[in-house]
Amino acid sequence: MKRTPVSPFDAIESLDRLEQAYPAARCALIYENPWQLLVATILSAQCTDVRVNQVTPLLFQSFPEPGNLIVAEQREVEKLIYSTGFYRNKAKNLLGCARELVQAHGGKVPQTMDQLVALPGVGRKTANVVLGNAFGVPGMVVDTHVGRISWRLGWASARTPEGIEQELCTLLPRERWTQAAHVLIFHGRQCCRAQTACCSACPVVERCPQLGVRRQK
Ligand code: SF4
Repeated sequence: MKRTPVSPFDAIESLDRLEQAYPAARCALIYENPWQLLVATILSAQCTDVRVNQVTPLLFQSFPEPGNLIVAEQREVEKLIYSTGFYRNKAKNLLGCARELVQAHGGKVPQTMDQLVALPGVGRKTANVVLGNAFGVPGMVVDTHVGRISWRLGWASARTPEGIEQELCTLLPRERWTQAAHVLIFHGRQCCRAQTACCSACPVVERCPQLGVRRQK
């Protein structure tokens, strides 16, 4: 199917409608500070936010600061995060992150993209979650929902998360990036699902190039 580029005006109109439709859209991970959000976001890879929120209270209690984690045994961490999947790799990354934060950043989570993506297990998605939600620095998170809906709405055409992020950042005003990702994720979970898009109830159906293409439910 030929893809017609969407104008920033149309995209912003759609974003306005989505924000009205999902006023409660926000980060679903439970955290109290940047360190906790960084840990929770690393754990959320290939795992639901609900599951992460079940695991983190005990983890945060055991390791309230990076300095507490660096002296832990990897096996001890693995036990606590086992149910989030990929637990060996995640535990290794958490320990590596904690070490790096203590050695290079005075035990604090850094506030720039370059410094964040230099941490073990931290990619642009995780970095944007932390920047946008913990520090108020606009971050365009591209997860599976954001990627899929951006494609369907004609907001992006790139094949990679990095490419989609770049297109969205060009299309949408910087100050709206963080919230745009939240509403797209909510829309992806509640309406524009991967297999069964609920187009008949969609708040942006009139502006969606997929109208009449997706299965109406
Ligand atoms: S009209 Fe359908 S495919 Fe388009 S954004 Fe809405 S739910 Fe998704």
